[in-house]
Amino acid sequence: MVKGDIMLWPGVKKLGKELGLKRTDFEAVGIIKNCFVKMYDGHNMKVLELYVPEMDDDDKAHIVRKLESNKIKKHEWFLNGVKIIFVEMVKPYSMQKIKDLLEELVNYFSSKYPAGVLQCQHCGQPDETEIYGINNVSVLICSDCYKQAERKIENENLEQKNIEGNYLWGFLGAIIFAIPGILLAILLFVFLNSLAAASAVVYILLGIIGYKKFKGKISPVGAVVIVIAGIIMVGAGTIIAYSVFWLVELYKETGIIFMDGLFYILEMPEIQSELRINILLSYVVSAVYFAFQLNLMVKEWKNQKVISKTRDI
Ligand SMILES: [Zn+2]
Repeated sequence: MVKGDIMLWPGVKKLGKELGLKRTDFEAVGIIKNCFVKMYDGHNMKVLELYVPEMDDDDKAHIVRKLESNKIKKHEWFLNGVKIIFVEMVKPYSMQKIKDLLEELVNYFSSKYPAGVLQCQHCGQPDETEIYGINNVSVLICSDCYKQAERKIENENLEQKNIEGNYLWGFLGAIIFAIPGILLAILLFVFLNSLAAASAVVYILLGIIGYKKFKGKISPVGAVVIVIAGIIMVGAGTIIAYSVFWLVELYKETGIIFMDGLFYILEMPEIQSELRINILLSYVVSAVYFAFQLNLMVKEWKNQKVISKTRDI
């Protein structure tokens, strides 16, 4: 995620306010004279997008000269628009310089095309355009295109919610995929003689992959299903690792696979309490990771598209 995706940073926010612009989550946007202006932060850069009623080759040449005189090396053309990139290597780019350049360009276009009107960015017609944020990216669209976009988003959200998915299959997937995690626990215990609680994280990671591979439904309930599978696997993994360890020990002593001996050992109070401590430890380690993953999953579930008007800065 680039930093600009998450918020409106102070420099852009302040200048946006000064210019009377509005905002989406991460852009300052608005109409100045007859130009549509967008500003936001990116990764090591500030970005200014300017959309104008008309732009011919002379206008482009004018913009290029302005950029060169300001030592700005990066820009991209859009249809009747330009994206100007202010690279920030060490310190932030001067907001005053951005403001000066913006005002200069807006004045240039508004005096060259005084009767020029901005067009809908979807269909190109000039009437009744307004700025909307579609999934937080602003666009200037007409009322027809707005209605169309709204319907499309509603349908997409509905489809997203209705995606087929099954909790039982997801649960099985989580259990099956977590089995290699048990092998890891066994190896750690038998060879290093320590039951790394960290291997618990592996069960969950594998469990989540398994849940998704088996088309478990992504939802808060699905997250709980994964937690339950994880709890079972962490417990089972610890007990199995212990059993294998003691079977190996018994085999070294007696030369046979001595199941009765194993049950005898597992029933000893000190072994039982050791087992409990290890399972508990695994739960503690995995709880943190669980919380993190649940949060991701609920976010994924909530990830609905939205169309909304811009708001005040
Ligand atoms: Zn339109």
